[in-house]
Amino acid sequence: MTAAEAAAKGRAQPARERKRIAVSKPVKGAAGKTGAWRTFKPVIDPEQCNQCGLCQLYCPEAAIDENLEVDYEFCKGCGICANECPKKAIRMEKEER
Ligand code: SF4
Ligand code: SF4
Repeated sequence: MTAAEAAAKGRAQPARERKRIAVSKPVKGAAGKTGAWRTFKPVIDPEQCNQCGLCQLYCPEAAIDENLEVDYEFCKGCGICANECPKKAIRMEKEER
């Protein structure tokens, strides 16, 4: 979605057009990649999301990037992002393994 389309819909500009503060990147730790721990996975609803970026800031694994895409290699399914989302735009889905 372009900035003009976003403005027409009353939504914030797309994330890649906005500057965010730097956050750390996820890395493999002594216990492996934290994505292996997950039983529920977060799914962001782009229609509800206003791209505020809070989920990215609160994620303890830095598993949400600046484009608000979840890295499931490192997302451990804790649900903090869903709890902190002011728009309730993240639902936790049972993981199919
Ligand atoms: S916290 Fe919610 S509304 Fe904000 S960017 Fe994340 S998913 Fe979107
Ligand atoms: S469920 Fe937890 S680890 Fe996964 S993206 Fe959300 S806050 Fe990060």
